[in-house]
This record gives sequence, structure tokens and C-alpha cells, in this order.
Amino acid sequence: MSNESKKPVASYYGALTFGTEAMRAKLPKEVFKALQDTIKAGKKLPADIAGVVAHGMKEWAMEHGATHYTHWFQPMTGTTAEKHDAFLTTQMDGTVIERFSGEQLIQGEPDASSFPSGGMRSTFEARGYTAWDPSSPAFLMKGGKGMTLCIPTVFISYHGEALDEKTPLLRSMDAVSKAAIRLLDTIGITGVTKVNTYAGPEQEYFLIDKKFYAQRPDLIMTGRTLLGALPPKGQQLEDHYFGSIPDRVLEFMQEVEEELFLLGIPAKTRHNEVAPHQFEIAPIFEQVNLASDHNLLVMEVMRKVADKKGFALLLFEKPFAGINGSGKHNNWSIGIDGGMNLLDPGDTPESNISFLVFLVAVLKGVLKRSAILRASVASIGNDHRLGANEAPPAVITVFLGDLLEKVLDAIESGKVDLKTEKQILDLGLSHVPVLNKDYTDRNRTSPFAFTGNKFEFRAVGSSQPISVPNMVLNTIMAEALDDLNAEILAKIEGGMAKEDAILAAVRDGIIATKAVRYPGDNYSEDLQRAAAERGLPNMKNTPESVRAWTDKDTVSMFVKYGVLTAEEIESRYNVRIERYVKGIDIEARTLLLMIKTMVIPDASEYQGDLASSFNNLAAAAESIGLSDAALQSQAGLLKTLAEDLSKLIDLTAILEETIEEMEEQESELDKADFCSARLLPCMNAIREVADKIEVQVDRSRWQLPTYSEMLFEH
Ligand code: ADP
Ligand code: MG
Repeated sequence: MSNESKKPVASYYGALTFGTEAMRAKLPKEVFKALQDTIKAGKKLPADIAGVVAHGMKEWAMEHGATHYTHWFQPMTGTTAEKHDAFLTTQMDGTVIERFSGEQLIQGEPDASSFPSGGMRSTFEARGYTAWDPSSPAFLMKGGKGMTLCIPTVFISYHGEALDEKTPLLRSMDAVSKAAIRLLDTIGITGVTKVNTYAGPEQEYFLIDKKFYAQRPDLIMTGRTLLGALPPKGQQLEDHYFGSIPDRVLEFMQEVEEELFLLGIPAKTRHNEVAPHQFEIAPIFEQVNLASDHNLLVMEVMRKVADKKGFALLLFEKPFAGINGSGKHNNWSIGIDGGMNLLDPGDTPESNISFLVFLVAVLKGVLKRSAILRASVASIGNDHRLGANEAPPAVITVFLGDLLEKVLDAIESGKVDLKTEKQILDLGLSHVPVLNKDYTDRNRTSPFAFTGNKFEFRAVGSSQPISVPNMVLNTIMAEALDDLNAEILAKIEGGMAKEDAILAAVRDGIIATKAVRYPGDNYSEDLQRAAAERGLPNMKNTPESVRAWTDKDTVSMFVKYGVLTAEEIESRYNVRIERYVKGIDIEARTLLLMIKTMVIPDASEYQGDLASSFNNLAAAAESIGLSDAALQSQAGLLKTLAEDLSKLIDLTAILEETIEEMEEQESELDKADFCSARLLPCMNAIREVADKIEVQVDRSRWQLPTYSEMLFEH
């Protein structure tokens, strides 16, 4: 480990970011101030100070050993992109200097044709621009032997359409801020200029030894094991969760944290998760745009450090069948800039009222838009969690906890009219955070749970960038806040006193959203029944749920709030389907290859051994006095293996045909449907037989590392 590990964290926290301290040191006073104002206002960097900022940034970066810079952004690939350019510039006289201009800082022009656009740009104008998002500080990333200055940017087309996931997120923050201010104004909290949304993503992951990873084409190509029999010991014993962390893993975690601290990322907790070799890292929450950038960096840093330490990092949502999957609990809240958390009940009547109003808005938003919320986290990997027998489910309901349930029931039944200060306080809302945390946050199965002063969206997958679900959350909240506001205003218009109008709208909202509240076990049959009865969307897989992006009313919402244009939505829809089809296609082909080049050869070799040993035995049977029955038992071994192997060979031929059939489907959506309806079941059928064969074959003849080895050897 480096020297930092011995120093107090505060002494080096953020040392590799061009944050306030570095800016103050490197920029003239007026420029520093102008830049701070720009950042606070969430605006673009004014061109007239860009040159000075760029110069200061370059000086700072070079002092830390940086030679190159890159615009760092989130294309619609689910990862980040960077193209490195050197500071080095040649001059007219042939000498070289290191230069970084304001223009280079503000704007880049990567070749957009190499990134997915979902058909938004025709190829002849494949120009895309990256532009610095000053709300996210530039940082230095270690890599190879050097350092690169990374400038977080948005990525937009020549015509200004978003080609990335960050731009819509920024727009959604603005939309929800404005809607929240309007509603706050109505309920008497005036003068607010900005409302922020925050996220704290709890990142789950697996670490396995690199030597096993290197021998598993499925993990390398697809992120998950396509084959592998369950070990005799799974997670039944629950001895891993919160158990002591193995030393080698702890060293990995410490190094990750040190790197994150240098990048100004507030990593806070680390622990073992439910499954063997599964762990979690959680940062302190930040504004969603920053949290989203930081989560991408967390994944990136973990990948690098894992590699260095001889591990492979598995971020896929379900790397091992039959073993707990990985998610990313997205803790989300909304609060007044520099002030009150609007989801915190607090202990004044005023904060209790705003709490109730925002709570009801969440219920309204999630109920009305659960389909798109579900679609925002749809992916191949997440289908194994949400669509399978694992919590959280594909049905999006809200868990509030006993106390809040009682409070809402009391309001609904009119037992409290909320007119007096005393009654509002008597609701006991001020106890909610404590009670909820300690007594009622037991429902780990809910996809959307209230946890004291925030909601936890647990359906997000471990490998997904959080920008998309948070963009959707913010937008549906903006709409719900506006709806609620309109209802209150209509009641006031109709002659109601303001307080009465607010409370009547809250009560109406509570009644109207009962269907989305589900306090029970989300793993149960009862939830599936409840979903059907209440008419809640229950979309088991990506092709089903991705259609939510084409729903006219949903499109209107995004357009109305200026978060996504109809064209931008269509492109996202296309990209998602395409990624799904490509991903399943890769899985199917990888499986085919593994069966043909590993499983069948290994099994038939062992079958040969068994056959010759059986023949030898049969020849000797009489002379050693072996009974027919005993001989038949041994024949049984060979027979079972031979039959299973033949079945596998037949299924392999079917898989080959099914892949071809998939490719012949007309549209991409047809292909996607075919993948989930036909190709995946075909792959599962093969797996079943292959896994059965695995446990019949001599381990020394089996090339693939087994589940037992990957999950239990350190
Ligand atoms: P819990 O035990 O309820 O899951 P933790 O305190 O462990 O809660 O927090 C989990 C994550 O939620 C952390 O990343 C934390 O920073 C984040 N978090 C806490 N408060 C908020 C909030 N108001 N808004 C968003 N995220 C929050
Ligand atoms: Mg949590």
C-alpha cells in the first residue's frame, strides 16, 4: 500500500480532485469566485474565464504528474468513456510545450459514431460534443505509470440531443427542483431557490480469485457463469453475512478506500454480504449527479484494485445461479439546498406537513409511473433478480413501515384532522426516523422502502449506472409534486382555507395510492396475487418492460419536464433493446462454445475411461466371481453418463438452430422477445444437463473451475 494508508484520511481526502482548495491555490481571486458561482448555480463555464481555469487546472494536474487529459462521460453503453489527449503541443519552431486551452477544457469532439445513438444521428453527421459539467470536479486517475486529468462532461449531438446518461439526469434535477419550489411555495415555505436530490448507492459485488476467472470464458465474456453445479454448501448457513472479512479482501477494501478518498469520494461502510465472496461498499450520500459520477468511479477503482490484488471483480447482477445476486440499493432523498430534508418528518408542525406532502407525492409518482421506474433498471443481469424467485421483485410497491402505515391510516379515516399543531405533533411523526430504522426496516424484500428520512430503491442492479433510475425518479417526482400542487390550488380556489386544502389533498392522495403500499413479504405468492388484483405492472423481463419507454403518456411526461425529447427517448429505447439482444446472443454463443470445446470433450473422455474400465471388469467378472447385479451397477454409471451426454449433444444442435432462428426475426424487438421466450429457456435446458454431467465426471478431467472452488477457496 502507499503512504497514504498511515496518514489521517482528512489530510489527503480529495487530493486528486480539482476541488475548492486546488482552485483557490491555482486561480486568481476573481476567477475563483466566478467559477464557484458557476458551480453553485449549476451553469456552464463562461467562455471568458475558461482559459484561465484551464491553465490553472493544467498546472495543478502537471504538478501531480499528469501528462494527458480526457473528457470523461457516460455514453449509453452503461459504462464510461474516455479518449486521452496529451497536453503536449508542437510550436511553429518545432519546440514542444504543454498546453491546455479554455476551449479544450470546455469542449471536446469525440467521434460520436463509435457510441450508441439508438439511431438518433444519421452517420453523415456523426459529430458529438463533450462539454465540461463544472458541478462535478475534475480529477486525476492513476493508470499505467502515469496520471490522467479527467474532466467530467456531458455528451451531446451536433443538434443538442443528449447522447449520454448525464445530461438527462442534470435536466431532471432542475425539473424536480422547480416543481418542489412551486409546491413549497403553496404550502407556505417560501423563498426557496433550489431543491436538491441526493443519492447514496450501496454497491454490492463479488470477488473471486483471478486464476479461476481466467479459466471461465463465460465470466470473461458475459459476466456470469452460464454453467456450474451448485456446491453442497451454498449460503444456507448464513455464516458469511457481516462475518469477519478475510484479510486478503480487507486489504483490497483498504486500498480501494484510499484511492476513493484521494478522489474525494466518501466511502463509508464495508462489509460481507449474504453470499460467499460477496461484499458491499457504501459511500455517504451526495447530490445525485455527483453520486452518479462517483459510483462509476467506485466501480472503476474496484476493478483496477481487484486486478492488482489477484482478484476478479464481478459486478454482474447474478454471477452464480442459485446464489444470492447483487444489487445497488439506491438511497434517494430530496431537500432544500443547504436546509431541510423534505423526507424527514422532523419535530415541528411545519416539517411534518411538508413531510406528508412529499411522502404522498412519492406514493403518487411511484404508483402512476411504476412501469417506467421498473424499465429504468431493466437489463439482462437484473432479469435474474427482478424476474426470478429473488427479492426485490419486478412489481414496484412501496414499504412504509408500521408506524407510517398507522399514521396514514389515521389520516385516511379522518381520526386526525391535522388542524391543530398539537394533533400534528401527536401523530408521532417525530419518532419516525428512529422507529423506522430500529424496528420496522426489517422488510429487506421491498423494492422501494422508506428508511427513516429517505427512500431506498432496491431494484437497481449492481452493474448499472445510477443516473438512469435517478433521472426517472426525479422526473416522476416533479410530475407528482405538480399534480399535488394543482390539487391543493384547486381546493383553495374552490373556497377552502389553505391548511384544509393541503390536508384534504394529502388525504385524497393517501386514499388514491393505497394500491402501491405493500407491507408484506415481496418474495411471496401473495405479492404476485396482490399485483394482479391491484393492476400493478409485473414485467418479468427486459423485453416486456422496455416497452414502457414507448408509452405515450410517459413520453409526454419526459417531454413536458424537458428531461428527454421524444427522439431521445426513442433512441434510448432502441439502444436498450439492441443491448439486450446482443448480450443474450453473446451468452448463447459463449455457452455453445463452452459446451462444444470443454464440456463435451471432458465428458466423453471420462466416458471412454469408464467404458474401458467397464469392459475390463466385465472380462474379469467371472474369474473374480462378480455377480451380474454388481456388474450392472457399474454399467449404470456408464449408462447414465452416456445418456446425459447424448442428450447434451442433441440439445447443442437445437441451441445452434435456435440462435439462427433468433437472427432471422424481423425487428429488434421481435429478436428480444425471441431471446427471452425461446433462447434463454433453451440455454437453461442445456445447463441443466451439463450441470448434471459435471457431478458425474472425474474432477481432474473437468477443465472449468467449479462453484465450490470459486466460492469457497480463498
Ligand atoms: P440503512 O442502514 O438504512 O441502509 P445507512 O445509514 O447505512 O442506512 O445508509 C445507507 C446509504 O444511504 C448510505 O449511502 C447513506 O449515505 C445513504 N443515505 C443516508 N441518508 C440519506 C439521505 N438523506 N438521502 C440519500 N441517501 C442517504
Ligand atoms: Mg440500506
